[in-house]
Amino acid sequence: MALIVQKYGGTSVGTIDRIRNVARRVERYRDQGHEVVVVVSAMSGETNRLLALAQEVTASPSPRELDVLVTTGEQVTIALMSMALQHDGYPARSYTGGQVRILTDNAHGKARIQAIDDHRIREDLAQGRVVVVAGFQGVDDAGNITTLGRGGSDTTGVALAAALGADECQIYTDVDGVYTTDPRVVSNARRLQRITFEEMLEMASQGSKVLQIRSVEFAGKYNVPLRVLSSFDEGPGTLITVDEEDPMEQPVISGIAFNRDEAKIIVRGVPDIPGAAYRILGPVGDANIEVDMIVQNVGADNTTDFTFTVHKNEMEKATNVLRSVAGEIGAKEVQSDASIAKVSMVGVGMRSHAGVASRMFQILAKESINIQMISTSEIKISVVIEEKYLELAVRSLHSGFELEKEPFESD
Ligand code: ADP
Ligand code: ASP
Ligand code: MG
Repeated sequence: MALIVQKYGGTSVGTIDRIRNVARRVERYRDQGHEVVVVVSAMSGETNRLLALAQEVTASPSPRELDVLVTTGEQVTIALMSMALQHDGYPARSYTGGQVRILTDNAHGKARIQAIDDHRIREDLAQGRVVVVAGFQGVDDAGNITTLGRGGSDTTGVALAAALGADECQIYTDVDGVYTTDPRVVSNARRLQRITFEEMLEMASQGSKVLQIRSVEFAGKYNVPLRVLSSFDEGPGTLITVDEEDPMEQPVISGIAFNRDEAKIIVRGVPDIPGAAYRILGPVGDANIEVDMIVQNVGADNTTDFTFTVHKNEMEKATNVLRSVAGEIGAKEVQSDASIAKVSMVGVGMRSHAGVASRMFQILAKESINIQMISTSEIKISVVIEEKYLELAVRSLHSGFELEKEPFESD
């Protein structure tokens, strides 16, 4: 008998039929004698619908009230899911994040889980109940409702699994595992049997939204066995594992991630003096704007063009901040460009294989795709390109690196 946490995403609970379907899957696990905690998202489209309602009322809704609003989506699904289980004769009980007491900090819209009180869940499990918990939400120490950021139900699932010492956390979604890239963009993308936490974290941070970044961080930190599966089909899914393999046995590239959410800001003609980077990024940081890629190089005239990327939603704010300090810095001008995209190749095998970057650049050159920025880490290479070439870039890299072919995996 095992304790399993199962998280079901929006599409998996998008209709009453689908909720019934999920209930039947949970029941099968109960029939096998397992204890099951279910975490559910809002029905698909519901969170967006609620956010749009808020926008109809005001262009800048209070973050506290937004959290009160959007958490209702998950409250609907926990109740419906418990009813479906009870209807089939399986005792079940639903809890909102606050009722469990998933304690978070007070950063509305992007709160972090600080502690979970598991006593009610354990009591229910001991009574033979299925426990159904609302994903994506918690409560701060003053009792305010908080949310964990978009896609945050994944993190609720993993955090509960860690708190309960569950044998496995299963993330059920509308694809049957983690693929070499988003199967919606590359139709012959291949399901990975396993991927390391490190690679999954890099894929998620570079834009693969199949798992929320924090859920992968949590799983890695607390060593939660994590699996991504389909709620519509049977199958083994993808296991996220610690990296134990011989580096020579690993594929060089595990996957390609991409991100359309970033924008580029260029500060031109910055004097090449100590402190210039700080004088640019200091005010950006003070305005609470997160910076991703940064590129700087000194030209022949002893000035530099300082280029960096931010989230598209923050482009205007960052540009305004810099326009107002450009004079003080001695920069010539500030430009911004929202029509960019970032493509990243990820793989722990890069550590022991040279030449990945040059092959990547060669494939993009063959398609006449211009690279605007490059950044690398030990297990990742990212490039920024014009947004309209994104799909072409991902497809050509996927086939150029033959990611559709099974590497030398044994099982
Ligand atoms: P849920 O609502 O179940 O949380 P999400 O939409 O958040 O589902 O995540 C699943 C989606 O992630 C898939 O439909 C797929 O389009 C997308 N995706 C992006 N990159 C990948 C990848 N590498 N492997 C699998 N799915 C991916
Ligand atoms: N319903 C929330 C969202 O759409 C949380 C989640 O689905 O994980 O972002
Ligand atoms: Mg999701």
